[in-house]
Amino acid sequence: MRKCSLDNLQKVFALIAENASLYLPVDKVGGAVFEKWQEGTSYSNALNTVRSAKDFFFPQTENMMEFKTKGKEIEVVDTRDEHEDFVVFGVRACDVKSFEILDRVFLCEPVDSFYANRRAHGVIISMACTRPSETCFCQTFGIDAANPGADISCWKTDSEIFFEANTEKGEKLLSSIAALTEDTDEAAVEAQKAKIAEIMKKLPLAGITPDKFGGGKTSEFFNAPQWKELSQSCLGCGTCTFVCPTCQCYDIRDFKTNDGVIRFRCWDSCMYSDFTKMAHGNIRNSQLERFRQRFMHKLVYYPENNEGIFGCVGCGRCLAKCPISMNIVKVMKSLGGEA
Ligand code: SF4
Ligand code: SF4
Repeated sequence: MRKCSLDNLQKVFALIAENASLYLPVDKVGGAVFEKWQEGTSYSNALNTVRSAKDFFFPQTENMMEFKTKGKEIEVVDTRDEHEDFVVFGVRACDVKSFEILDRVFLCEPVDSFYANRRAHGVIISMACTRPSETCFCQTFGIDAANPGADISCWKTDSEIFFEANTEKGEKLLSSIAALTEDTDEAAVEAQKAKIAEIMKKLPLAGITPDKFGGGKTSEFFNAPQWKELSQSCLGCGTCTFVCPTCQCYDIRDFKTNDGVIRFRCWDSCMYSDFTKMAHGNIRNSQLERFRQRFMHKLVYYPENNEGIFGCVGCGRCLAKCPISMNIVKVMKSLGGEA
């Protein structure tokens, strides 16, 4: 394990930024957002960013290719740009876990090469949570806020920052900042982990359990009468899906330009009324069906297809952002997921 004084953190950022673009949470009106580091950029102390680090690997919009036309000639232009080395600093344990969930979708056959390239070029540095909020329930899904993982795990005290490499990429990055860090024992980190564990036990959502859910439960929950009441106020705004680090639905569209077409993809939402619209019609015509789909996917369908892993990491963003205060915790409680 290595450590450095917080007074040297800007120097560490500068050294990392010599070899790769460095992004980190920065305070803004409305909450923390990931921004590219430049000299003087201050690292936010916010618990988490409004939007997750998912954006770096699966951006909200990205161009896939361009078709240029000239008379009857069509030229296919490669517009790919996902080859930049980058480092994302300050990712919380819940969001680190979200990459395992996204990897299982985008890296299975056929591999999504856009996502795969960004995963190959990105290094994730996590940060343990010392002040989890009342909307946090990562422990429900077996995530340890005190052991955030990723390529490098970090712990921050009032005066120091501690680093531990977990992967080859992490070791390489840590050795690149060795001049600014020093070897240390784990005493301070172990003390912080113990404090975090105590806080986690007292969180209001500590009793939420996923035990009632999982693969093979479709027939138990699909026609549950609770869906009617749970979904009746849902606005179908899609906010919950857009802030969610594990939601991965997208649409691919063509945009006509003066001399051709740009093909791009953008996030979509199963909460939208046209999400399942096809030539023959729509297979989910009511908000109840769309609402049920989102939660059944996270709690039943995803674990069914992924060795029991749930499609939620308990980050709490949907609890904080839904305009009608509906969220996955209310759904789980209503369907019996409370200890
Ligand atoms: S469903 Fe809500 S709590 Fe779960 S990962 Fe998505 S935004 Fe976070
Ligand atoms: S559950 Fe809330 S955030 Fe999600 S679509 Fe419905 S109203 Fe919007």
